[in-house]
Amino acid sequence: MRITDIMEKRMSFSFEVFPPKEHQSMEPLLDTLEHLYAFEPDFISCTYGAGGTNAGRNMEICKAIKESGKIIPVTHYTCIGNKKESIRKELQTYLDMGVEHILALRGDFPKGWEETRGDFDYANELVEFIKVNFPEFCIAIAGNPEKHIQARSFEEDITHLRIKQNVGGDYIMTQLCYDVGRYERWVDKIRKAGIALPIDVGVMPVLSKNSTIRMTVSNGCSIPRELAEIIGKYGDNPEDFKKAGKEYTVKLIYDYINTGIDGLHIYTLNKWQDVADILNDAGIRNLKDVNVDVSGIA
Ligand code: FAD
Repeated sequence: MRITDIMEKRMSFSFEVFPPKEHQSMEPLLDTLEHLYAFEPDFISCTYGAGGTNAGRNMEICKAIKESGKIIPVTHYTCIGNKKESIRKELQTYLDMGVEHILALRGDFPKGWEETRGDFDYANELVEFIKVNFPEFCIAIAGNPEKHIQARSFEEDITHLRIKQNVGGDYIMTQLCYDVGRYERWVDKIRKAGIALPIDVGVMPVLSKNSTIRMTVSNGCSIPRELAEIIGKYGDNPEDFKKAGKEYTVKLIYDYINTGIDGLHIYTLNKWQDVADILNDAGIRNLKDVNVDVSGIA
């Protein structure tokens, strides 16, 4: 089953995890996955380390998800340091493992890099390469509701998103965005620009002051007033901050669902317990609950 087929029928529901570093044990993440499976997500995506540092563990995680037999694995994949021949080999390995979904990205530059140092400079080139050489893949592309931080203008960024659609992107996965109003205006703009792909919205849980500030600032994303108030009021007390942040995340999830999104994707940060708290507070025990609340379809 392709994720796009699911999104045609109803809202998809999914998680993102990141692989352990080479020297770390796999056990904690395998345990996390077991807890996440309980929510019956449609898919779990696994990030791909910039510079290829933990790309190998990415494959192990995708394999484990596939072998669970429960959930579709989606691998992230980047242009960073990757030449065509190694890309061919790796993509064939994913397909041989039964991993047929891929999020095709340029990737974040490792510290000190100013280019990909691979055969592709931008994600659109990778998307086209995959579409031509490995048409079996269902390809996700990244979208930035608040503009990619390096883009010179919204218009240029949207043009680049349209190019990714036109060369083979099947659906969009969004960067974190705490401002649902801005997200809605972006959707309006991209639809007017001829981008018709389904949109899977990424929700970054608010769990700690420092990581919330770091992630918003590094991606050029805004901090809405309500979130700023939480930072101001509870910033010096990690426990209270986390409690208020979880409540904020529950509301964010419902604000997004109410806009009529095609998919809800939770960046778990590998913190299954916090994610479970958020979903339980949101009344989401499994996939069915998300869709009951959205559309009344049991
Ligand atoms: P692109 O689409 O190539 O865009 C990058 C910049 O270049 C943009 O400013 C764009 O406007 C511009 N641009 C695009 N095409 C052209 C062109 N043809 N000519 C000129 N300018 C162009 N990073 C990782 O390293 N590993 C991960 O696992 C990972 N997972 C992610 C998951 C999600 C859901 C998202 C949204 C992002 C993820 N990232 C990950 C981060 C991502 O790699 C960065 O945001 C990166 O800086 C841009 O990737 P992109 O695919 O959007 O790039």
